[in-house]
Amino acid sequence: MELSIGHATDHGHARSNNEDSFLVDDAHSLFAVADGMGGHRGGEVASNTAIGALRDAFAAGAPLDHAIVDANAAVFARAAGHAELEGMGTTLTAVTIAGPSQLLVGHVGDSRAYLLHDGELRRVTDDHSLVEELVREGRLTPEQAETHPQRAIVTRALGVDPEVEVDVYPVEVANGDRVVLCSDGLTTMVRDRDVEHIAATEPDPQRAADLMVAAANDAGGDDNITVLIIDVRDVVSDGAATAAVPAAARENARDDTLAEAVVPPVVPPDDGARSSQQPRERGSRTRTARGVVLVLIPILLVLGIGAAVLGIYARHSYFVGLAGQQVVIYKGVPGGVLGWNPTVERRTAIQVDQLPEVERDRVRTNSTRGSLGTAEAFVEHLRSTATTSTTVPATSTTVKKKPKPKTKTTTTVKRPRTTTTVGRRP
Ligand code: MN
Repeated sequence: MELSIGHATDHGHARSNNEDSFLVDDAHSLFAVADGMGGHRGGEVASNTAIGALRDAFAAGAPLDHAIVDANAAVFARAAGHAELEGMGTTLTAVTIAGPSQLLVGHVGDSRAYLLHDGELRRVTDDHSLVEELVREGRLTPEQAETHPQRAIVTRALGVDPEVEVDVYPVEVANGDRVVLCSDGLTTMVRDRDVEHIAATEPDPQRAADLMVAAANDAGGDDNITVLIIDVRDVVSDGAATAAVPAAARENARDDTLAEAVVPPVVPPDDGARSSQQPRERGSRTRTARGVVLVLIPILLVLGIGAAVLGIYARHSYFVGLAGQQVVIYKGVPGGVLGWNPTVERRTAIQVDQLPEVERDRVRTNSTRGSLGTAEAFVEHLRSTATTSTTVPATSTTVKKKPKPKTKTTTTVKRPRTTTTVGRRP
């Protein structure tokens, strides 16, 4: 298999810096997009660190999912002991060759991989985002999700925890297929069908990447935009002739401590049941922090101090609000402050339509704010006023039932924590 690559990245119209990073490593057929998040310079550091660690681990022989686990450890270690980097994280979506007619996608976060086949674009990856979880649970429609104020909240990212779950997708490809890797700066600005149109009509991969970035900027360019186009050529359909030597060699090359978690690059295609596994417990650790305001240098310091104060305020405040129909406790300030967007601290079993009108309004307007204790007391009060209904799901761990055409495995690779975390704040 031969791959031709186009790539483009741009800070967009609203951001002064670019927190996206990407990798084009032709020698190892490894391609990746990372979208960093975190206050101050955290986002840039996180995405850069992840890409560098991914590249190094993969070049040293690690399988793709292990290389992503290594990238997680590298970002987590980088943040430890640095107050200004605390809470930083990054998405990572990476592609490599896994067989004569197979690619492998490894994925964490809300960047995306798409496959264009016969002129049709299909999404390969699931977003690890609050709104997409709500869509998967049927609590939001896809249309509501597109404009949801909390659509930037990521529920899984690299660098936030010492462990990470990596989604792995084997993708069968044919000659003429095209993979699009992108950060959410493309997909929040440009509809899928417009991405599909560009992908299907512009034959040159570099021009296709440039056109997609331009389309996102034309639509407003609210975020950093990164696009990689990977064109598939010279696929040998007779798999026996060219067995996946590079992938096989890689499998054997390393893995002493991590051997128990090896994910074979080829997964039986009818393994849909495993894709229903949901990492719901991660929901309580949602973090996001996007956006830094461009200011003139003389007032930068003053604003920086102000931002730090606001950041501390935002991260030590709680309020009760809604995630879809569900009453939840958010950490942060409604609407966010200077990139410190609220994150879900705790979910409850209370649905908004169980509440009396007056309490519904209080929840909808996020009128109860303060400490975690205040929020918990209010939730306790809501619980006492809520009408019980047998149709209400008791928890947010709804199992999705829709059969999916794609196969996916989710793996957790536990790494022994060898280093101390001296200097980490409690
Ligand atoms: Mn982004």
